[in-house]
Amino acid sequence: MNSWDVVIVGGGHNGLVAATYLGRAGARVLVLERRDVVGGAAVTEETWPGFKINTYSYVAGLLRPEIVQELELAKFGYRTILYDPQYCMPFPDGRALKLWVDADRAATEIAKFSARDARAYPKYVEYWDHVLELLEPVMLAPPAPLAEMFQMFSTPETETLVRDLFLRSAQDLLDEWFESDEVKAVLAPNAVIGTLCGPNTPGTAYVLAHHNVGNLDGHSQVWGFSVGGMGGISRALAAAATDAGVQIRTGVGVRSLVVDHGAVTGVETSAGEKISARVIASNADAQTTFLKLAPADSLPAEFVKEVRGIRSRGAALKFNAALSALPEFTADPGAPSDAHRSTVDIAPSLAYMERAYRDALEGRFSDRPFIEMLFQSALDPSVAPPGKHTMTCFVQYAPTQLRGTDWESFKPQAADRILDTIAEYAPNIRNVVEHFQIISPPDIEATLGMTGGNIFQGDITPDQILSFRPVPGWAQYRTPLRGLYLCGSAAHPGGGVTGAAGHNAAQIILEDLRGGSDGSPGVPS
Ligand SMILES: Cc1cc2nc3c(=O)[nH]c(=O)nc-3n(C[C@H](O)[C@H](O)[C@H](O)COP(=O)(O)OP(=O)(O)OC[C@H]3O[C@@H](n4cnc5c(N)ncnc54)[C@H](O)[C@@H]3O)c2cc1C
Repeated sequence: MNSWDVVIVGGGHNGLVAATYLGRAGARVLVLERRDVVGGAAVTEETWPGFKINTYSYVAGLLRPEIVQELELAKFGYRTILYDPQYCMPFPDGRALKLWVDADRAATEIAKFSARDARAYPKYVEYWDHVLELLEPVMLAPPAPLAEMFQMFSTPETETLVRDLFLRSAQDLLDEWFESDEVKAVLAPNAVIGTLCGPNTPGTAYVLAHHNVGNLDGHSQVWGFSVGGMGGISRALAAAATDAGVQIRTGVGVRSLVVDHGAVTGVETSAGEKISARVIASNADAQTTFLKLAPADSLPAEFVKEVRGIRSRGAALKFNAALSALPEFTADPGAPSDAHRSTVDIAPSLAYMERAYRDALEGRFSDRPFIEMLFQSALDPSVAPPGKHTMTCFVQYAPTQLRGTDWESFKPQAADRILDTIAEYAPNIRNVVEHFQIISPPDIEATLGMTGGNIFQGDITPDQILSFRPVPGWAQYRTPLRGLYLCGSAAHPGGGVTGAAGHNAAQIILEDLRGGSDGSPGVPS
């Protein structure tokens, strides 16, 4: 059979979530993934024999618990490990600040840096719990129009919240809560991760909120590992999809959408195969979908202009390594130590991060980069050969284009800079690295199709979230082409391995397949 209810372009985790919900509802669904592996940015690859590397995304926690339950992902192999401490930040003076999951225990560590901040920290955690109570329900539903959304914020307290989250920088927010540079530093990375912004850029308080919605083992505001690597999430999703009757074809890229009188009727693959469907859901980003896959002139010029204006800049690279042993951190001696069982962030102050950002604005890889490092093998031995370890580093700032050179030529220098920076805190790092790879923003774009190498399929700053995502007027997963939907992180609520965009898109598609009850365009029958 060559005609489907739904063809999903791209088997990223969101495409798989959408496919599973649609398949379970009885739709005949085909997923076409260009790569030989499903999962998009949520994959684990055996880059070197025995070493299972999280090539792109590396920490779990954002996947909505509702999706985990509804799709029975545990039955299909989904397992996570909550790590504790969550963060271990080493400082040049040899001290380390560890943030434990338990707020009181974390406060005891913070007291070594500031008694006042130690008192503030449990209240800060409560503050985020309160914010997340408002944000979490918004994630698993199409975004309300802005005017409606703002009605939620009608009291002075909630007005303050809007100002803090959407208009302020992470620095503004953290300055209000804390006095110690070290405490602010350990709380700041989530505000800029993957985003070409510094901690002083207005709007980064929202980026912080976006990354605080993690939920694992009943704990909120936390990160953990997917057992076996991030690919474990995608494998569980693919198994759930297959169980729901979905067909998944890998190694099949979509070259173009087939459009007839303003409606999509199918796709043409790179091999020239034509596949027809009532609905096409694109897991590719908005620029790829509308500027590359949709036939030229099939979309309104104003819409195309908006899509061209989506900010999708690279900010980071990955440095992944196979290690013969764990490196020793001067600030947290021993191997393994707490550092290896947590996220180690090298970014000792907000000023350090801001400087690193400013280098990238000038088209340079940061002279002193912000490095987020994890050693999954220290808690999950399944990802490395016995006695050996993995290290994954998310390194900022790495602009999409380097001034005066290109990424391929620059990679050896970038590697030296990264290893030199790590060596300031873990002097034996060079002795333990057996292999490494650098995945630059152009590599991310070439392999996954994420425009500019932007890890979220478009920045998640306040001007590009909620009803602004992907562009104003089109935040309900539908598009100007009848029967075409977005189901990936280019749509609300944006990036991260949340599954939310796939979930929400599936609900809208089902509504439309059943007849467009809410005045929606419906889909061709
Ligand atoms: C380097 C990096 C680090 C990250 N770290 C984290 C992290 O630690 N934790 C976290 O939660 N999030 C992280 N993120 C973000 C998160 O991984 C992404 O937001 C999320 O995985 C995106 O999922 P998606 O399904 O929306 O899209 P994608 O993962 O982009 O999937 C899109 C899929 O579509 C396929 N495709 C594209 N075009 C075509 C075509 N024409 N035909 C067929 N197939 C096509 C692609 O190959 C891909 O498989 C990271 C991302 C990156 C890149």
